[in-house]
Amino acid sequence: MLPAAPITRCHRWLTPLVTVVLAGCAGVSNDSTVARPGRSMELVVLGTAQDGGLPHVGCERPCCARARRQGRELYPACLAVHDPATGALLLIEATPRIEPQLALLHELAGAHDRGRRPVDCVLLTHAHIGHYLGLAHFGKEVASTDSLPVFCSPRLAGFLRAHGPWGQLVKTRQIALHEVAPRVAFSPLQGLTVTAVPVPHRDEYSDTMAFKLRGPNKTVLFVPDIDSWQQRPGLLDELLDGVDVAYLDATFYDGRELPDRDLTKIRHPLMVDTMRRLATRAKAHPGALRFIHLNHTNPALHDAALVRDLERRGFRVARRGERVAL
Ligand SMILES: [Zn+2]
Ligand SMILES: [Zn+2]
Repeated sequence: MLPAAPITRCHRWLTPLVTVVLAGCAGVSNDSTVARPGRSMELVVLGTAQDGGLPHVGCERPCCARARRQGRELYPACLAVHDPATGALLLIEATPRIEPQLALLHELAGAHDRGRRPVDCVLLTHAHIGHYLGLAHFGKEVASTDSLPVFCSPRLAGFLRAHGPWGQLVKTRQIALHEVAPRVAFSPLQGLTVTAVPVPHRDEYSDTMAFKLRGPNKTVLFVPDIDSWQQRPGLLDELLDGVDVAYLDATFYDGRELPDRDLTKIRHPLMVDTMRRLATRAKAHPGALRFIHLNHTNPALHDAALVRDLERRGFRVARRGERVAL
């Protein structure tokens, strides 16, 4: 067990009921944010899209052209944990859109004047651009954090130490890497236990972890990127074991969004396949299985009828600003 990250600041919940509805496709977009004061530790969704977000660099198709016209933006998949009792904040993934995501987190948490400690610790799943590039903002040129604890696998830690600009963050002690062993619970924040479960993914620079986050009352699974559920027998059961709410890789819906690609070569489970596997569970626990990390082309970001249909079957598409009491 690694020591819990030091919690040096205390912030009381100051934000009254706030409702912010951002521009977007009514009923479909992940653009609504509802903040409610709460007493218990809670998980907050700060981003729902694939690494490139929406709109996507270089995409001129209707999905992104319309989003640009409407000023609609979805950030890459990202979660946070907030403990109102201590004001502690944990960020899960450091995405390229970390600035507005942290601003949203601070607004929702009523966190003010955090200065050089915008969060108390960070968890990273793997070294693909949507998941860790935001670390750069903790460097000297921007937030200049002081030994901010960053929890990740030993292989990802080795990659960060060995390659610029990340190695500089370690050398100058802007971040402090904490290596987490697979399946060994650790506690990055008081009252929160996290277990990293290795998952198969195209692992060029690092391996890839899913996280199980166990609060006082509830357990949440976060598995934004995985090649397939069946590559390792029993993996999906292991991931979902003891979990109350699961955020699952939903990069692609059924392949229609990639007309030129060979479906057998897509390295993500299709949403329709995941829904087939988990149909009974979704019916028994409506709202417990939620999709995240949606590609800009995924029709579940653009087609309200399709979303209503999957909701009827007990599934959900994650929305920015949604919360789960832990
Ligand atoms: Zn990704
Ligand atoms: Zn990835």
